[in-house]
Amino acid sequence: MAKLINGKEIAEQVKLETRDRAQALREKGIEVTLAVVQVGQDPASCVYVRNKKKACEVCGILSKSIELPEETTMDELMQVVRDLNEDPSVNGILVQLPLPAHLDESAVIRAIDPKKDVDGFHPESVGKLSLGLPGFESCTPAGVIQLLKRSGVVCEGKECVIVGRSNIVGKPMGMMMLRENATVTIAHSRTQNLKEVCRRADILIIAIGKARFITADYIKPGAVVIDCGINRDENGKLCGDTDFDQVSAVADAITPVPGGVGPMTVAMLMKNCVDSAEL
Ligand code: NDP
Repeated sequence: MAKLINGKEIAEQVKLETRDRAQALREKGIEVTLAVVQVGQDPASCVYVRNKKKACEVCGILSKSIELPEETTMDELMQVVRDLNEDPSVNGILVQLPLPAHLDESAVIRAIDPKKDVDGFHPESVGKLSLGLPGFESCTPAGVIQLLKRSGVVCEGKECVIVGRSNIVGKPMGMMMLRENATVTIAHSRTQNLKEVCRRADILIIAIGKARFITADYIKPGAVVIDCGINRDENGKLCGDTDFDQVSAVADAITPVPGGVGPMTVAMLMKNCVDSAEL
């Protein structure tokens, strides 16, 4: 049976470290502040925003909530972002995605001051990651790196296969694993022989958004499996992209869903806010 990589526990450690750093800043008169912009009331977004605000409380970070109606125009939203860019009391700006369909997400992300881009989605942040320069890093893949490091998983020289090539998980994950000196393959929906590709992996990281898609026959015995997926199965139960019961019988270590990558994403957001304030 695979060892469980406990994201909840590791996220608590990261949040405690972040709380101490936020406290040290407060003693110097700096209140770490995250602005959270939400447009509309998408139920999943409401849950994510609530979790982020709760994490702010735990870490001693102020959260400034900007809730806008569904029918907010692009001009109005851009003005909100510009005002937050100029507000010296705000260290981090998070625009909760997805935005309603009439709004241009990419333009909104580009409008955020890169110095306050705590989600790490701005082209400048992405470019810095590719060039190996310090900058804000996308929270989910950065959280995966912390899970691996703090669980004692060595990445150097290992075969790492990432399934999924989104801008927020798969692609930055690839850059981060390269930085850790792994040999990286990024697979996607057009990859041929996906099972064979996955079976090469010493470290398999999955972010595809398909409930329990990865079964035991995708896994090399002894692999470390990191499941970024957050899905609801046919009974409405929360589950990952891997079939946990099957895969944990073959893998050496695995992250559960819930309680794996999810809590790390929020913890890394908190860390990015404190990084921003320290800078
Ligand atoms: P996207 O939908 O943006 O990307 C999915 C990726 O998976 C695409 O690259 C797609 O390939 C690939 N893919 C889809 N189906 C297959 C398949 N059958 N075989 C191989 N590749 C496939 O998703 P995200 O990256 O945003 O999210 C992925 C998962 O991670 C979701 O469950 C999401 O909820 C979760 N997530 C979790 C977070 C957390 O905090 N833990 C944060 C962000 C996401 P192609 O490019 O060819 O279409």
